[in-house]
Amino acid sequence: MPAIYDPATPPRKIGVLGAGQLGRMLALAGYPLGLEFRFLDPAPDSPSRHLGEFVNARYDDEAALARFVDGVDLVTFEFENVPAHVLAFLEDHVPTAPGREALATGQDRLAEKTLFRELGIETPPFATVDSRADLEEAVARIGLPAVLKTRRLGYDGKGQFVLRSAADLDEAWKALGGVPLILEGFVAFDRELSIIAVRGRNGETAFYPLTENHHEGGILRLSLAPAPRLDPALQATAEEYARRVLDRLGYVGVLAIELFQRGGDLLANELAPRVHNSGHWTIEGAETSQFENHLRAICGLPLGQTTPRGYSAMLNLIGTTPNPAKVLAVPNAHLHLYGKAPRPGRKLGHVTVRADNEDELERMRLGIRGSGIGS
Ligand code: AMP
Repeated sequence: MPAIYDPATPPRKIGVLGAGQLGRMLALAGYPLGLEFRFLDPAPDSPSRHLGEFVNARYDDEAALARFVDGVDLVTFEFENVPAHVLAFLEDHVPTAPGREALATGQDRLAEKTLFRELGIETPPFATVDSRADLEEAVARIGLPAVLKTRRLGYDGKGQFVLRSAADLDEAWKALGGVPLILEGFVAFDRELSIIAVRGRNGETAFYPLTENHHEGGILRLSLAPAPRLDPALQATAEEYARRVLDRLGYVGVLAIELFQRGGDLLANELAPRVHNSGHWTIEGAETSQFENHLRAICGLPLGQTTPRGYSAMLNLIGTTPNPAKVLAVPNAHLHLYGKAPRPGRKLGHVTVRADNEDELERMRLGIRGSGIGS
């Protein structure tokens, strides 16, 4: 029997599955609220290890899970590939949020797109691919160009192959075949956006303004928020899409949906049942950060306002970190370093700059890039 959340006893100690930078920023948002944290992560050098108690173990190590859950009031996660059966095990001991269905959905691109379709949310055309014959059929149905993706464990553009002509099928199958796949129509999008949404235990919802996201080599590089030239009708569509997902999953916490904008249309690409990299700007750039709002939601507290404070640009620091003095010499620049060892392609930190209007933001963004930060 899953443990039931009791609103009469407010949670104090939060167990977090995963101890990456998202966990670190959750803890930093939670300390002012009087919360304490315990993390579980298999990596010994996890970025959250100094921000609370740290259980260094595999996610499916039952003895470690028993130690992890003993004395925590509720469990959440900052890593979406925690096995769903682990959450099922923990649910018997403490309330968990978000729930198991949200976690399982976010782990499988087919489940995500099927949910979007069921909820009347537009997506790229897609088809399941479990064999070479399926791939032929899917390409015949969806057409080219198309993107072949692993259903599970793909992130930052990994586990993907863009098919441009029939001659690419062999190579794509050689690269990815053997695990469950999904073929998606290639969307000639105008830009990539994301919406960060939050739902409380009482069903209350709040939405941040759409964020415009720029990727390099499949990795998020830059987020601009609110998305420049944001049409209120687009914001309304994104909020409606997010609300449908939140309500359908009975969701509690922060959820992100990545979207493609094509003309006046929004197509859903994927969801993340957790705080999200494209929401890091909310730390300085919104009345309440995504991290604080996630904690408010799971702890049964009133949600905070999601109103932006001016305009923000968030630049990810990937592979190397700049000299902190150089970043901090830029007015309105805020530096976040995650304490991770440098490695090519690794997200080591981010910088957020804030401005009063879009033009000033663009000047500051160019200033940041011009100073060689993160380039
Ligand atoms: P994903 O792992 O699904 O977020 O994909 C990584 C990146 O690949 C996205 O941010 C897009 O830039 C691109 N991409 C993914 N799916 C598609 C698609 N169906 N059409 C066009 N570009 C895509």
